[in-house]
Amino acid sequence: MKVGVLAVQGAVAEHVQALSTLDVETVLVRLPSDLNEISALVIPGGESTTIRKLLSDYNLVEPLQKRIQEGLPVLGTCAGMVLLAKKIADSDMKTLGVMDIDVKRNAFGRQVDSFETELSVPDLGSDKFKGVFIRAPIIKKVEPNVEVLCTLGEDIVAARQDKLVALAFHPELTDDLRFHNYFLGIVTGRDYCKK
Ligand code: GLN
Repeated sequence: MKVGVLAVQGAVAEHVQALSTLDVETVLVRLPSDLNEISALVIPGGESTTIRKLLSDYNLVEPLQKRIQEGLPVLGTCAGMVLLAKKIADSDMKTLGVMDIDVKRNAFGRQVDSFETELSVPDLGSDKFKGVFIRAPIIKKVEPNVEVLCTLGEDIVAARQDKLVALAFHPELTDDLRFHNYFLGIVTGRDYCKK
């Protein structure tokens, strides 16, 4: 099994490293033909408008949408979450539009550009998960088919819709591989084992 990491812009190397640590073979995805090789995809953080533009330039938008609609599992982190969303608050920005979530970009404002906080994620067990937030989005609303995995105050910061997982923060910037493992559980059809 090979997992693709979308490699047009953003925190690509960190996801490759995390997956390699879990003994998963990775493919850097830049061309539509790269999609033929992969069983799942990670869309990393970065700048969502730039990633979206490069996806268009590389003719990846439609092939990617098609594969996702056919069931390709996707983990989207930060800008990756923005790209999965069907709606972006106060914006007509184009995304991939595959997940039934309304997302607000840069939701924590300029004053709080980046921060770290301990998150409770019941599906990952009782140990807290260190959330690294960098100009992070939040999910403002989900449709009933979307499972909320984690909230921070009133805000939803992690969610799952079938084989799509969207995280507002950056698990690849921590040593905690539980979210990558959780995603691989979805990809392989085995349940994630809580400690
Ligand atoms: N603010 C960025 C965006 O909306 C996301 C930031 C990130 O991925 N760290 O694209």
